[in-house]
Amino acid sequence: MRAEILDGKSTAAKARSRIAEEVAQWVAGGGAIPTLAAVLVGDDPASQVYVRNKEKACQKAGMQSRLIRQPDSTTTEQLLDLLAQLNLAPEVHGILVQLPLPKQIDTQSVLDAVDPIKDVDAFAPENVGLLVQGRPRYLPCTPHGIVHLLAEYRIETLGKHVVIVGRSDIVGKPLANMLVQRDAGLGKSFANATVTVCHSQSENLASITRSADILVAAVGRPKLVTADMVKLGSVVIDVGINRVEDQIVGDVDFDSVCEVAAAITPVPGGIGPLTIAMLLRNTLNAAKLQAIQQP
Ligand code: NAP
Repeated sequence: MRAEILDGKSTAAKARSRIAEEVAQWVAGGGAIPTLAAVLVGDDPASQVYVRNKEKACQKAGMQSRLIRQPDSTTTEQLLDLLAQLNLAPEVHGILVQLPLPKQIDTQSVLDAVDPIKDVDAFAPENVGLLVQGRPRYLPCTPHGIVHLLAEYRIETLGKHVVIVGRSDIVGKPLANMLVQRDAGLGKSFANATVTVCHSQSENLASITRSADILVAAVGRPKLVTADMVKLGSVVIDVGINRVEDQIVGDVDFDSVCEVAAAITPVPGGIGPLTIAMLLRNTLNAAKLQAIQQP
């Protein structure tokens, strides 16, 4: 078997052009230009690239982006002050704090300080709670990107066993929370899964992953998932982004798994571009929500 490649790049380009059309309509109808404020602390090279890509994507979609750079020595208090200002700024609809933050900063209190209505990453406890209850305000960007890609290729999750390796608050847990819903916003066929979440303490990982109809790797370890861990004819989603000798690779041993899986996402060009597209979607939705809430 040679797996079909699930093309995240072209799927994301399609999603972005649809969002750009919606932005143009919204602005033509008198809506405020959706604006994303990205807070970048320090000079981590990977973070700089991510933020630049998000800024470019915003601009291409007809949105505005504001990059707020802070020095590496910034304190938690200084960041909380900045967020308080951004929360109050009516022209800012979405706030993104690029992770990771420098060690001296209390990341959790910083993320908690973003006004939930401007929390386009969907990290705020209120937004996580709404997702868990099946009434999401914003869908988390990477999980939404994964489900969007599955929907684009008509790969249904209804009734399927989805195994997620990784339980982070950014990928694993929110993806599980989306997929167990009756409908997470993309229709019944792209929810209603039986979900297993694995992590570093899971025993017999390979025997669990081999039972997956859809296997999602979100670990951050190159080639963790090998062909012997994958069921014949399954779908493999590789979320990992790992730098190995100046190359970006995923968590899946792509070449060997291609011989077993029916479909697979590449790295790069898989889930990464979709994450950015879903951030744009949330920023547009945030602008619309805030227009309704204005007195
Ligand atoms: P994270 O917060 O570091 O979480 C990694 C998870 O993997 C943890 O739950 C950890 O278990 C688990 N794990 C570690 N070693 C394991 C092993 N040997 N077997 C099973 N599970 C293991 O990472 P993250 O933020 O979710 O990111 C994961 C990867 O996805 C990274 O490469 C990141 O760069 C990438 N990523 C990509 C996108 C995108 O847009 N494509 C977005 C976000 C992240 P414990 O909880 O027990 O420690």
